[in-house]
Amino acid sequence: MDTIDLRSDTITRPTPAMCMAMANAKVGDDVFGEDPTVIRLEEMAAERMGKPAALFVASGTMGNLVSQLAHCRRGDEILLGDQSHVFIYEQGGSAAVGGLHPRILPNASDGTIGLDILEGAIRPDDVHFPRTGLILLENTHNRCGGRVLSPDYVAAVGRLARRNGIRLHMDGARIFNAAIALDRPPADLVAAADSVTFCLSKALGAPVGSVVCGEKRFIAEARRMRKLLGGGMRQAGVLAAAGIVALEEMVPRLAEDHENARRLAQGLTAIAGLVVDMATVETNLVYIKVAHATMTAPVLVDRLAEKGLKVLAASREYIRAVPTYHVSTRQIDAAVRIFRQCLGPA
Ligand SMILES: *Cc1c(COP(=O)(O)O)cnc(C)c1O
Repeated sequence: MDTIDLRSDTITRPTPAMCMAMANAKVGDDVFGEDPTVIRLEEMAAERMGKPAALFVASGTMGNLVSQLAHCRRGDEILLGDQSHVFIYEQGGSAAVGGLHPRILPNASDGTIGLDILEGAIRPDDVHFPRTGLILLENTHNRCGGRVLSPDYVAAVGRLARRNGIRLHMDGARIFNAAIALDRPPADLVAAADSVTFCLSKALGAPVGSVVCGEKRFIAEARRMRKLLGGGMRQAGVLAAAGIVALEEMVPRLAEDHENARRLAQGLTAIAGLVVDMATVETNLVYIKVAHATMTAPVLVDRLAEKGLKVLAASREYIRAVPTYHVSTRQIDAAVRIFRQCLGPA
């Protein structure tokens, strides 16, 4: 029996084209600015995001952290959502490394933070208060169901930020999923942001890496911060080569993951004991609520694993499932059957 792995889009392995590109990559010392493949990836990424410059980093977490460090001074307050990846899953690096003061604001179920809530959280100039340095948004929003932020909302936050002399950073780990879902170029989705981080290593399939994009001066500072964190990589073109293939070949096919996510969600809505809100399945993430008399999400996850289906428990109540290019439509249908077997009358 083949295992069906829907735990995460981070499990994707490099494609044959990526392996070939990595083997043949022209490389140099990137800390000296001499790796032609890294330079090419950074130029491509900047162009895709509509920003003047870009920086290849080891991970999305590193991209978000160097961005915060480059935008802010120690002691600045940052405004971010209570469901955001930066707040929940990045070890509190903003404070632990950056000396930044997180101000946690409630995320609505669609991943937005109310404009009035943001406006109300901005600190007046007063000796008692930290200075507000940065707003962070996330698109698509992982813990809010992979929801897509509308370009209008991001533009409104951008105006609010500029009016108050604050920067806006977009954690766009899955910004290409948002772009595909909206059928718009990713640059349209981040036009109002001063910086954006996106991941090559998720559904785009590259083995390692993320890219930070923004103004030239910001990227120069982010480059310093990357070195400070130990992220100055030498012949990194070996990795960047796979990232180039990811950008050139893997973006349009994200639509297949989105279709499989809808197919999975649709199949699961018919199973008693599970609740999936179809309206929230906009991209590749499917959140499944376990509404069962005796079974919690972690217990169900173990039962599914025994039958060859791997998914993650996002909490006691919720399971997350993520189709990727390793998973066929046939396997999606098999996954629905395994759910039914585990929940049915047996
Ligand atoms: C995965 C992810 C990150 C961080 O990426 P890593 O490469 O795992 O460090 C950041 N933000 C969001 C929303 C993510 O899903």
